[in-house]
Amino acid sequence: MTHTLPFARRTDQFVGSVIDSSTSLLASQTHDIVKFAMGAPGEDLIPVEQLDAIAGRYAQGRFDYGETAGEPKLIEQIVDLTQQHGAPTDDDRVIVTTGAMQGLDIAFKLFVDPGDLVIVEGPTYTNGIATALSYGARVLEAPTDAQGLVVDALPDLVKFAGQKPKVIYCIPNFQNPTGTTLPGDRRRRLLELADEWNAVIVDDDPYGILRFEGEAEPTFHQLHPGNERIFSVRTFSKLLAPGLRVGWIDADPSLKPLIIAAKQAMDTCTPVPTQHLVADFIAEGHLQSHLDRVVPLYRERRDRMRDVLASTFGDDAVATNPSGGFFLWLTLQGELASRDSSALMPDAIRDGVAYIPGPAFSSRGDFRNQLRLCFATNEPARINEGVARLAGTLYATAQ
Ligand code: PMP
Repeated sequence: MTHTLPFARRTDQFVGSVIDSSTSLLASQTHDIVKFAMGAPGEDLIPVEQLDAIAGRYAQGRFDYGETAGEPKLIEQIVDLTQQHGAPTDDDRVIVTTGAMQGLDIAFKLFVDPGDLVIVEGPTYTNGIATALSYGARVLEAPTDAQGLVVDALPDLVKFAGQKPKVIYCIPNFQNPTGTTLPGDRRRRLLELADEWNAVIVDDDPYGILRFEGEAEPTFHQLHPGNERIFSVRTFSKLLAPGLRVGWIDADPSLKPLIIAAKQAMDTCTPVPTQHLVADFIAEGHLQSHLDRVVPLYRERRDRMRDVLASTFGDDAVATNPSGGFFLWLTLQGELASRDSSALMPDAIRDGVAYIPGPAFSSRGDFRNQLRLCFATNEPARINEGVARLAGTLYATAQ
């Protein structure tokens, strides 16, 4: 539809989210679909009964406006959580947000004017790209490899761009969509480059706590405590439940007034009942026991998906091997090298399996022969079924 309304120029760069539109598309289907598309915990892995029991106890005061920075009780629990997971923060650094998405929105709102350069990983989280674009950013994708962002490639990229970046958007742990983790030496180098360019590192880490094996790499903040150019965005969406819409920003206290002002213009405060729900859930020890239960299940699901992909596709597809998080990144090669994951989406849905096509993770529409699979949502037997359906779609001769 053509509008005659006086839209702001920034709306030219509103691209929307392929991931969210795929959720609506899937919701409208009536046949059985194995969902590898959304990055969400399986329904069986959301502790509904415990959450319901806590919500049932809500009393007066839970339905008023709350402080913009967040309910102090939740902030206290967030600080404890970060301490238990080895990367402690302080209460004066934490601002509770309405999901990680609001943290990203505030980050780009604070630092991006139209035309400013934002460097992202190629591929990266669709909504990260979309949010940067919504503030008029010039988004450039940097190369990645099995260890994530190729940090040493950034100086050439910046030379080519003819412009220093204002923001480097990075998902350091179990990246979305590839599942890769950035090693400590690359993190250190990225901090040096950010200093050199006076850039901010938007450190988006929803998955770091969901580690299946090995030691955590140091966070940017651990590598350089007190560095105000590190703007970290976190969430309970993957640790607990995405519908709660509770996340947090971990940033230098000097940024707090601007963050609060930006957030006040959006929603005044994150919904108070869900903040209390999460705070009580953690305080009563449920989060730790929940994580103790689900992390081994996610590991099992990752193993199952990798095994069944290998036995189904052999050399025609190679999957990354994440040590945590939710996602595998599948590269089609050999007989499947010419398959186009975007073009095949409707066929896959017809065949009863859903994934997110590679180009959704690129501002340039790259990665056509690649796709993201979420292994976290389905039980192992459903994973077998979904991969068999995927093979049916991908090997079908007529495309
Ligand atoms: N960043 C990344 C890398 C994500 O994977 C997601 C969720 N898919 C988000 C941010 C958004 O998280 P939330 O649902 O808490 O807004």
